[in-house]
Amino acid sequence: MSLAEKISKIIKNKGPISLYKFIEMALMDEDYGYYKSRNPFGSSGDFITAPEVSQMFGELIAAWLITAWQEIGSPEKAALVELGPGRGTMMNDIIRVAAKVPGLLSRISIHMVEESEALRDIQKRTLEKSGRGVEINWHRSFSEIPDVPIILIANEFFDALPIHQFVYTSNGWRERMVTENKKGELEFCLSQEKTPACKMISKEFLISEQGAVFEFSPAAKDITKEISLHIKTYGGSALIIDYGYFFNEFKDSLQAVKNHKFHKVLSDPGQADITTHVNFEMLAETAQEEGIYAFGDTTQGEFLLAMGIELRATMLAHNAKQKKREMIISEIKRLISPQEMGTLFKCLALTDKAEPTPYGFNKP
Ligand code: SAH
Repeated sequence: MSLAEKISKIIKNKGPISLYKFIEMALMDEDYGYYKSRNPFGSSGDFITAPEVSQMFGELIAAWLITAWQEIGSPEKAALVELGPGRGTMMNDIIRVAAKVPGLLSRISIHMVEESEALRDIQKRTLEKSGRGVEINWHRSFSEIPDVPIILIANEFFDALPIHQFVYTSNGWRERMVTENKKGELEFCLSQEKTPACKMISKEFLISEQGAVFEFSPAAKDITKEISLHIKTYGGSALIIDYGYFFNEFKDSLQAVKNHKFHKVLSDPGQADITTHVNFEMLAETAQEEGIYAFGDTTQGEFLLAMGIELRATMLAHNAKQKKREMIISEIKRLISPQEMGTLFKCLALTDKAEPTPYGFNKP
């Protein structure tokens, strides 16, 4: 059986499924989910993320996390948490930098939150090689993190969480569903009536233009709430980086990518990556509702420049051969240029203190 057949069976028995359910199955179905069954990263995979582009990315994230740890007084016990660590490349870079800070690695435990067994194995192999005797734990969800201060990083994690999509019609808001057409192919449709999920639409959005699309991820809200409550209780900071927006434009941001090319979202579910743009405004508001400070509206380009990526590139290029120098220049361009990842990717920091402004963020 394929995942398309599994989904089709559910639709035949129970009627159309929500887009939320579709994304959840396409990415994380126990048997056929995209992340459950493959290694999607790198030039031979489907997409390349910032830590895979250059070691400079992970190194600057390490500098951010170390500063955040020092900011909370370099406690005897703290947890370094990564959500959705992919191949483990960034944590490998972070550990290499953290090992240079006296006393740090002996006082922190590392916690990788990863749902995919296949990726967990790859992460274990990557980190075995970093061999610095540091304690590394794996978890399926953030709720398993121990009751100690945290320093947390999530890069391209939130864009992989499922969303509900609502479309404003002449009858009001309706939910985007997935059904099957006469030819037996999966097809989008709108719910006939309001669904229970329509309650997620904030009141202020009740009147809008026809065709406007509102996207909401309860999964993203719940995790942000859990992180915020943890920081509120035990202290610490979190850094979230992703493809997304601070101001909602009511557009459809759903996309699928296979082999570095756009792919039809409903074709071959489980074979292509599905992502949506992250609503950073919602994440920031969720944190603020829990009494946590959110620093944001910062692009990845601004953040990396403020963190000193140019200086790091200059250091790496020093003594390097011409070919390596060219590579470093193309990597830095990829990470910070507005035509590439620099502007589309945004950064958000969450902390329990109003001051100082977190490293790399220049506005509250
Ligand atoms: N951070 C990595 C990988 C990003 S891909 C990088 O930048 O290269 C998204 C990652 O999140 C994958 O590791 C995927 O398996 C994981 N993931 C997605 N949904 C998850 C969930 N609900 N819980 C835990 N991990 C999840």
